[in-house]
Amino acid sequence: MELNLKGQVAIITGSSTGIGAACAKGLAEEGVKVVINYRSSAEEAEAVQRHIKGNGGEAIVVQADVSKEADVERLVQACLDEYGHLDIMVANAGLQQDAAFTEMSLEQWNTVMDVNLTGQFLVCRAAARIFRKQGVHSHGRAAGKIICMSSVHDEIPWAGHVNYATAKGGVKMLMESMAQELAPDKIRINSVSPGAIKTDINKDAWENPEDLKQLLTLVPYGRIGEGTDVANVVAFLCSDAADYVTGATLYVDGGMMLFPGFADNG
Ligand code: NAD
Repeated sequence: MELNLKGQVAIITGSSTGIGAACAKGLAEEGVKVVINYRSSAEEAEAVQRHIKGNGGEAIVVQADVSKEADVERLVQACLDEYGHLDIMVANAGLQQDAAFTEMSLEQWNTVMDVNLTGQFLVCRAAARIFRKQGVHSHGRAAGKIICMSSVHDEIPWAGHVNYATAKGGVKMLMESMAQELAPDKIRINSVSPGAIKTDINKDAWENPEDLKQLLTLVPYGRIGEGTDVANVVAFLCSDAADYVTGATLYVDGGMMLFPGFADNG
């Protein structure tokens, strides 16, 4: 299957590390010109850019905090200034601020909502406005594609992480409502919902072998995921091979959503 993404332009938010970095590298390998976005770590973003350029790809680096409207506008403008158009937005930036529910501060709640939910609203809105204006052009069958990086916690409740699970549940409804509203404009919007992927965000769950063993009891497929597991699915959803797919959530989780606790008769 040919993905035919060559020459398209993508912004991937929070792409100096983890899943975002894997998506930036993966899309660049398919010939996509990428905008690497970071909030505070310029060195890591530049390392991703060096990797892409070293492999013959094109990439620029733009600092922006996705929870700030003016930053998001500056991010998309930087993309248009450099590449002239936009085809793909991967709304990936996210964070955790964990606490027991009764101990959770308003600041922890707001920080996670601001980045993980409002941040997705801001970057999706900015992309959709551009896609609408561009219409369907020479790059592919859609006017534009948005991937919301959600989580298995858009479905699975998560004690000790109420802010995170609530934000991801919100992303699910945000994605589906946007997809419904923007399908007539030929804008496709889908979520990719990872399970346990080995990145900084969940280091506590895999760094020590005992914790990893415990984590793997939740993963029927028996291994922790890699950034590339997610990046491959993102590339597929952005391609014309997925042109009839919108409003869908694709779980990339080694079977975490399959209620593994019931595998042995419950
Ligand atoms: P990560 O910590 O490596 O990546 C998150 C990135 O977002 C970081 O580069 C961080 O700097 C950036 N970021 C945070 N706040 C930002 C802001 N305000 N503006 C711009 N960038 C900001 O972790 P990751 O696992 O790669 O997470 C990427 C996405 O995947 C997140 O949305 C996360 O919720 C989701 N996810 C991850 C897993 C997993 O197992 N790793 C599972 C489900 C969902």
